[in-house]
Amino acid sequence: MTGRPYIVGNWKMNGTRAMLSEARAIDRAAARHPGVDVGIVPPFTLISAMVEAAQDMAVGGQDCHAKPSGAFTGDVSAPLLADTGAVFTIVGHSERRALHGESNAEVQAKANAALEAGLGVILCVGETEAERDSGQAEAVVGAQLDGSLPTGEDAAARLSVAYEPVWAIGTGRVPSVDDVGAMHRAIRAKLSAVYGEAGAAVRVLYGGSVNAGNAAELLAADEVGGALVGGASLTAESFATIISAAAALAEA
Ligand code: PEP
Repeated sequence: MTGRPYIVGNWKMNGTRAMLSEARAIDRAAARHPGVDVGIVPPFTLISAMVEAAQDMAVGGQDCHAKPSGAFTGDVSAPLLADTGAVFTIVGHSERRALHGESNAEVQAKANAALEAGLGVILCVGETEAERDSGQAEAVVGAQLDGSLPTGEDAAARLSVAYEPVWAIGTGRVPSVDDVGAMHRAIRAKLSAVYGEAGAAVRVLYGGSVNAGNAAELLAADEVGGALVGGASLTAESFATIISAAAALAEA
């Protein structure tokens, strides 16, 4: 485990007010492990209520528009997110890249807009199965970073990168610990090349089918600073186990 762990749950398009009790239980787990930074990313509709319910975890958005305001029906800008009490946002999730056709340039503009609005950023990158099978994984992720890392003086200070192989998301399949470590080392090298010394402080999270059973092993891989968790973040029972695993590794 590298640095202070950051464990983030992405609820995607799940979560009504009925699930706030689950969020409160996750918040209590965060309180039990003060050595771990915990974040939850509910749908936009639940952010305000979750901010009110949360004392020991950060609440974030799943995406933001690159413009601060305007005629963009259905979109949510970074300043609007900040106004709900969100303190960070994901950008460039593979579901946004694939289902909404987001390019690296658009993702970079979103990341810059989020930082400009005072939010932290989790930038997602990751290769498809075909890209891994053809030996292109590191090149693909490197190109995504080149094209979508935020720019600007202090960009690295509020940035995390999530390595999420597309083929591991929601599938129950995970890369080997060696493959996770190799990719995270490559991401770290790129961050240092782009941001210099500041790149060393950027947390690099692993995401893709992390669950209560495999978290400890994945979190122990080289240069892994935390996890971005989808399905297993929807219940406090499984997510709290992942938080505990991170706490145990951080204390070891
Ligand atoms: C995700 O979509 O960010 C994710 C990691 O999902 P899951 O944990 O369900 O694979």
